[in-house]
Amino acid sequence: MQIFAGANKGMTHYDDAVAILREKGNRLTPQRLLVLSTIAESRHHIGIDEIYKASKSVYPYLDLATVYRTVHLFRDVGVLTEIGIGDRHTYELRTRDGQHHHMLCRQCNKTFSLSPHYLEAFKASLVKDFNFEPDLDNFAVAGVCTDCKSQRT
Ligand SMILES: [Zn+2]
Ligand SMILES: [Zn+2]
Repeated sequence: MQIFAGANKGMTHYDDAVAILREKGNRLTPQRLLVLSTIAESRHHIGIDEIYKASKSVYPYLDLATVYRTVHLFRDVGVLTEIGIGDRHTYELRTRDGQHHHMLCRQCNKTFSLSPHYLEAFKASLVKDFNFEPDLDNFAVAGVCTDCKSQRT
């Protein structure tokens, strides 16, 4: 389909996601595939508004409600990771490798990746002290990023 001609970057994850969606019996409409390829092509964590804007530039008849429904479907099926604190959410394709956590800036709304090793000691101490097995796959911490900090005086 010609509208997906640009989806080269992140193609592997895109293909994986398509395979998973198909496996689980989801209909792959052109609109769903467009939303998926928009997220796959994004180099960063992407918000609904950005997904909408980028997808709409390819297919002008797309409406925001469809984007919401599609993104939530993908999240529920497990091909997307949702990163959110409060009412701000960003998304990325779930990767088999490169699992990471997130830091969210409250001021600029940017999402930053956090390598899992930062949480290994934390995880180990929850197991040791509480016999509690934490699920940190969607772990995110809110705060203020270095750029925003340096703008404060
Ligand atoms: Zn910031
Ligand atoms: Zn991420």
